Amino acid sequence: MLRIFTDFDGPIVDVSERYYRVYEYCLKQIGTQYANQKIHFLPKEKFWLMKRDRVSEQQIGMISGLNKEQAVEFANLRKKTVHTQPYFEYDSLAPGAVEALTRLKKQNIDLAVMTMRRVSELDFAFAQHNLGRFFPENRCYCLSNDYIKTRDVDDKPLLMQRALEELPRATDTWMIGDTEADIAAAKKHGIKVIAVECGIRSRTQLESFQPDLIVKDLSAAIDVVLENSKSLALSY
Ligand SMILES: [Mg+2]
Repeated sequence: MLRIFTDFDGPIVDVSERYYRVYEYCLKQIGTQYANQKIHFLPKEKFWLMKRDRVSEQQIGMISGLNKEQAVEFANLRKKTVHTQPYFEYDSLAPGAVEALTRLKKQNIDLAVMTMRRVSELDFAFAQHNLGRFFPENRCYCLSNDYIKTRDVDDKPLLMQRALEELPRATDTWMIGDTEADIAAAKKHGIKVIAVECGIRSRTQLESFQPDLIVKDLSAAIDVVLENSKSLALSY
């Protein structure tokens, strides 16, 4: 049996608008404390390029005109806000993601989602974009609503460990994701990993974490997996 674990934010959902709205909100909150302060809002494209280059929140705050102290506050407020409503409403489907999932569903492939979203946050997105149909409950690996997060690069390998313990054995397993956390989770457990460029990391950033492959998006990643399994079948 062939199994694919896919990350959610990045390969399936585009979070850039949510992140940008939260940036605007936090900059407005923190940057209007002094009457004479000049803050400037980065255009979305520039903001997102910085996120993809892993520029820290504090740096983004300072580039936008905050002083160092404010930038710390800005980063804290951002962290508190980014995974809350109403901002989740701004998430949209990654182009081609539903078609890719539909294509996968027609194959005899065991598909599971693996995400740092909490149950409630994943449920919201499932309902919002009609995605629950692709993932039965026992193929949803996410965080409980009261999980205390540490760092994604530490939490995601733990989630992967749980999945590997619980799920029936597969003959071939792949992970698809858009960040270093996905790559770490797969590599820690000897799973092949394909990074997609349509998410929150640039190709240069992804290269530094050495996934097995970097492709444009979920659809291209699925192409690779299917192609690979075909040649594997032929070699038996
Ligand atoms: Mg992601």
